[in-house]
Amino acid sequence: MTTTVLGGGYAGVMAANRLAGRGEEVVLVTPNAWFVERIRLHRVATGLRENARLDLETVLNPAVEVVRDTATKIGDGKVQLASGENLPYDTLVYAVGSGASDHNGAYRIVSEEESGRFRAALAEAPDAPVTVVGAGLTGVELAGALREAGRAVKLVSTAPERRAIQAHLRFLAKQGVEIELGRRVDPAALDGLVVDTTGFTVPSLAADSGLPVDGFGRLLVDEQLTVPGHPNVLGAGDAVHLASPSYLRAACATALPMGAHAADVLTARREGRAGEAFRMGYVLQCTDLGSGRGRVQFLHPDDTERALAIDGRAGGLVKETICRMTVRWLTQERDRAGRYSWPAGA
Ligand SMILES: Cc1cc2nc3c(=O)[nH]c(=O)nc-3n(C[C@H](O)[C@H](O)[C@H](O)COP(=O)(O)OP(=O)(O)OC[C@H]3O[C@@H](n4cnc5c(N)ncnc54)[C@H](O)[C@@H]3O)c2cc1C
Repeated sequence: MTTTVLGGGYAGVMAANRLAGRGEEVVLVTPNAWFVERIRLHRVATGLRENARLDLETVLNPAVEVVRDTATKIGDGKVQLASGENLPYDTLVYAVGSGASDHNGAYRIVSEEESGRFRAALAEAPDAPVTVVGAGLTGVELAGALREAGRAVKLVSTAPERRAIQAHLRFLAKQGVEIELGRRVDPAALDGLVVDTTGFTVPSLAADSGLPVDGFGRLLVDEQLTVPGHPNVLGAGDAVHLASPSYLRAACATALPMGAHAADVLTARREGRAGEAFRMGYVLQCTDLGSGRGRVQFLHPDDTERALAIDGRAGGLVKETICRMTVRWLTQERDRAGRYSWPAGA
């Protein structure tokens, strides 16, 4: 029985390691020879960090067969690859991640390529101010990194509801970021260097393959992370939509447990048991605000905010520790399958 995992990000590598460590045959389809720490791309985009790459072999179980390619269509028992090859599979884990909407001329930083393009534009205009559109986690982290890099920054957004984001914006304002809240802007209508951090898209692979998707094109999965009507196809990470629990958000913090759980469901079925329903709860949301500062917002399992937070240098230290832990969780799973665990849901 071979499991083919599509996508070598947080969810895909976690699933591949967990299965391979249990003696399963696993093939990982990924376009690159490296793993991208996407959660560090705001620092790559601003030139504060050379890159966010880790050699795949440093995070991946060596028993996993790597196919350097891109899946273009998922068929019944086989995956079509961009190279023209057809890869047979017995079970499949769909973990192709997410990107940003491509609806305007602004820069984006959610992929390695996009971060590289923005970085090149910054290098060409060393004194140009930057407008960041969107006060989500990516927009806030980018604004903080740009200030650390010495740029003049304006952040434009609708008014944020979460207390943590409001605190981030107060901090950024003190660092000299011009904050303009309360209006929805069209990034294409703004002059100068503009980065759009709003919008969310996923690869169209699931839709192109005739698999069930939601309005964003995310693969629909049930509580066992299995596609209804396709018992051999499971999904994990940003590229899938699971209706319950309803509070799940696209995050590394979600992708890692989902990848591990997809592997557990497959293992259970091989052993003649039914897979369990996916459950998880959040504990923290950590934000890098630049210059070694950060905020750690404690959360209820359902992702609502607790009163407790850690700010400043201590917050920055915890944030960096958690970033390192994400890689450590993958390498620990590479070395001993089943080691990774996560908090139960609400
Ligand atoms: C700047 C930034 C900061 C962030 N900070 C945080 C944070 O602090 N905390 C947090 O929890 N989350 C954070 N996130 C979100 C987090 O990075 C994503 O939620 C996470 O990467 C999702 O993991 P994934 O495995 O689903 O997808 P990804 O990590 O995107 O991996 C998907 C993989 O699939 C591959 N792929 C795509 N299409 C195909 C195909 N057709 N065939 C084969 N392979 C394919 C891609 O090359 C990629 O390797 C941040 C994101 C950004 C951009």
